[in-house]
Amino acid sequence: MDDLTKHDSTVRIRVLLIESSRADARLVTRAISHARGAMEVRGGLFVVTRADSLDEAIDLLARNDYDVALLDAQLPESPLAQLQSVSPEIPVVVMTRYDDEGLALEAIQHGAQDYVAKDELDGRLLRRAIRHAVQRKRSEAELLRHARRAAASQLQIECQAAELKSRAEQLDRITRELDDFAYITSHDLKEPLRGIAAYCEILLADYAEQLDDTGQHRLKTLVRLCNRLENLINDLLTYCRVGGVQPAETNIDLEAIVTDIIQTLHPAIDRRNAQVSVQRPLPPVNGDPTLIAMALRNLIANGLKFNDIPNPHVQLGSLATEPPTLYIRDNGIGIDRKHHEEIFTIFRRLHGSKQYEGSGAGLTIVRKIVDAHGGRIWIESTPGQGSTFFLTLAPAAGGQIPEQVAWATPLAAPHWFVPAHQSESPLG
Ligand code: ADP
Repeated sequence: MDDLTKHDSTVRIRVLLIESSRADARLVTRAISHARGAMEVRGGLFVVTRADSLDEAIDLLARNDYDVALLDAQLPESPLAQLQSVSPEIPVVVMTRYDDEGLALEAIQHGAQDYVAKDELDGRLLRRAIRHAVQRKRSEAELLRHARRAAASQLQIECQAAELKSRAEQLDRITRELDDFAYITSHDLKEPLRGIAAYCEILLADYAEQLDDTGQHRLKTLVRLCNRLENLINDLLTYCRVGGVQPAETNIDLEAIVTDIIQTLHPAIDRRNAQVSVQRPLPPVNGDPTLIAMALRNLIANGLKFNDIPNPHVQLGSLATEPPTLYIRDNGIGIDRKHHEEIFTIFRRLHGSKQYEGSGAGLTIVRKIVDAHGGRIWIESTPGQGSTFFLTLAPAAGGQIPEQVAWATPLAAPHWFVPAHQSESPLG
């Protein structure tokens, strides 16, 4: 594209002069071309083609390219409108009589780039008007191109957003369908399984004398395996059910929930000579009390279960973060970093069920609950040094996050415990 702001004699400006009067056309051409060949030709050379009627101009425009049209405004039948309708992109400079300022302004209002008075032609001014008209039109066209490109990008972004939304909805639907499928299948599996276990029990009760010790032992193993399978199915059912639940958006009383959990875990706490302590106050959060309770119970119970020391200690508290973060910390066996992600996979266990009983679904359910509340769960742990599970929850509407000091009470053991002010943990 020619840059007409540069003064370059090699740039050619093709002018279509639409003028019915031969004399006027000669005057105009002379005024435009006056500097041609002279040393001071600046802003490019003008190549003028004349059309003596609008029809001829339209014919020329159909066959050739022009940079600008110089139009006699006196031509009959709204020449500007006709010219613009056949060649909307060509800049137009209208030529009027000196005393016809009204006509000139009207032409500008209708899209002409500039006007000049024919009876006072000044070559320098005319050339400048032409160059500016061409430049302005090009700038306008450039702006229009940018605007179109921006509109196209905007449209593309909107399309991509809509596509993403529809994919997310599709994924949601598939997940729900999978959950439903797993739920129905698991549910259907339970019945024959119960039948098998019941028949085994009957065999053991009624035909015990006909079986030797090995036979009896094998039947008992069969019953045990049936029970284990039933537990797995029950966990799978819970997992599927959690997926289908829309968490209720209510403010919940975490302290009451945790107190309740500790009460229900009391037999296990006593049996293990353990302690569960809560760093109050806990933050006001929003969510489904039943689901949150299920998640916290699971984490606290794990802290007690995966713990070999004589006095297990589980600590639950919160961090002054936005959104609120809860932590559940134990002084148990800990978990190697390489397993930190896989323990959230359903039925993935790091130990045999003889060592620590369980199905391996607990943490997957916890994560599903936290996800459903728009939160995040992660773990910090080192083998032999206990584990800390962190989870974020939605703040209660209008709730104040308490300024909680982490690890207010040191865990009883093991030796690694570092008080809050010395700790390098993000909690410290
Ligand atoms: P389960 O408790 O039924 O085994 P989970 O899904 O709750 O299943 O846990 C998965 C695995 O993660 C457990 O088998 C255990 O190996 C590990 N794990 C979970 N919580 C802890 C913890 N607090 N300390 C050490 N290991 C843990």
